[in-house]
Amino acid sequence: MNIKVIAFDADDTLWVNEPFFRETELDFCRMLEAYLPEHATLRELLKIEIANMPLYGYGIKGFMLSMIETALTVTDKTIDLTAIEKIIALGKEMLEKPVELLEGVEEVVSALKGKYRLVMATKGDLLDQERKLKKSGLEQHFHHIEIMSDKKESDYLKLIRHLDIQPEEFLMIGNSLKSDILPVLNIGGKAIHVPFHTTWVHEMVESNIEHPDFKECASLKEILPVLL
Ligand SMILES: [Mg+2]
Repeated sequence: MNIKVIAFDADDTLWVNEPFFRETELDFCRMLEAYLPEHATLRELLKIEIANMPLYGYGIKGFMLSMIETALTVTDKTIDLTAIEKIIALGKEMLEKPVELLEGVEEVVSALKGKYRLVMATKGDLLDQERKLKKSGLEQHFHHIEIMSDKKESDYLKLIRHLDIQPEEFLMIGNSLKSDILPVLNIGGKAIHVPFHTTWVHEMVESNIEHPDFKECASLKEILPVLL
């Protein structure tokens, strides 16, 4: 198949991430129940998060600021300062969560390491992703770690140039069709989708991909027979 580099997405591909956001969102919405029903607060938060994305990027710190802004909006600035303190505490709790590897990750990464150059390509806060990588114990398996502010076609082209390979020699594995799969196929790379049970609304796309360089695997372990 002519693949030289395999890049893994990290959040919800190697380790659990999105469920922590869902849990925190729920705690946050419950805090504001006196002002607005949960689903309405959730909608407001999502709107504010997406509007802030170009300024804050992906990650927990931006999420914390968006929760504070949502609380101010929903309560018409009448929110108690202790509630703001609680929001900050919720965010810090997320930043201190242990890293929970998904099933089969260690086995897959160590089996592929001798045969391919392995890269971790993830979005999010630099410091937070470095923290998770350290805690994961996976750092030694990767040739290169790329923490990207976005995962658009141009970001992947930059990474591929940096790795000194051709797009067709690059395989991306990840849980997000929007961020990990479609842009890579569009620039001539290969992609394997490993879905995760929880996906952020902002990452969802309606897509039935029919492409010779695309595969879907129900779990990470299923990629081994394809690649070995
Ligand atoms: Mg992901």
